[in-house]
Amino acid sequence: MNIILLGPPGAGKGTQASRLVETRDMIQLSTGDMLREAKTSGTEMGKIVAEVMDRGDLVTDEIVIGLIREKLDGDNKGGFIFDGFPRTLAQADALSDLLAEKGDRLDAVIEMRVDDETLVQRILGRAREAEAAGNAARADDNEDSIRTRLMAYYKQTAPLIGYYHAKGMLSSVDGLGGIDEVAGEIQKVLDKA
Ligand code: ADP
Repeated sequence: MNIILLGPPGAGKGTQASRLVETRDMIQLSTGDMLREAKTSGTEMGKIVAEVMDRGDLVTDEIVIGLIREKLDGDNKGGFIFDGFPRTLAQADALSDLLAEKGDRLDAVIEMRVDDETLVQRILGRAREAEAAGNAARADDNEDSIRTRLMAYYKQTAPLIGYYHAKGMLSSVDGLGGIDEVAGEIQKVLDKA
């Protein structure tokens, strides 16, 4: 089963994806993680990516689609969880083409709903926790970048909600509950998919 976790920054996509890796033996594909890795690589691509990400804007479709294409090669019995991808309609189309090329398809899209104020507080809390533990906070976990990321979500990513709804693939869960509670909601959706 291949699924997308869709939602604004701070909605908890990464947390729930890690759960599914454990409980369902799925493979998590997080473009955010892949891009952060590229950022530290010291390559020309890494430098371009760093600037865009730190500001909170989206990296080009070409770059992220290329990253995903590389990861879809090979076997995946438990299926893929797309976390933070697709973020634009062009990425959504590319994903269905890439899966079709493998003779595969998308089974469900789960939208995680969380209000803006909670998102901002969660992300700023995460940054403070990292710093208190002596680690560096993510370069884009500051108030300016968070606002830019939210705007990018509403302008470029939120249209995917309508797109997948029209395809009959969308389910929404309340992302405000505790981690276990949200995981339970997601399980229910997947059991029906
Ligand atoms: P969050 O969901 O908290 O914003 P991510 O780790 O998913 O965090 O993404 C961090 C940043 O990486 C984004 O703000 C964006 O710059 C870039 N990014 C991640 N995934 C994509 C994507 N699919 N398309 C374009 N940019 C992306």
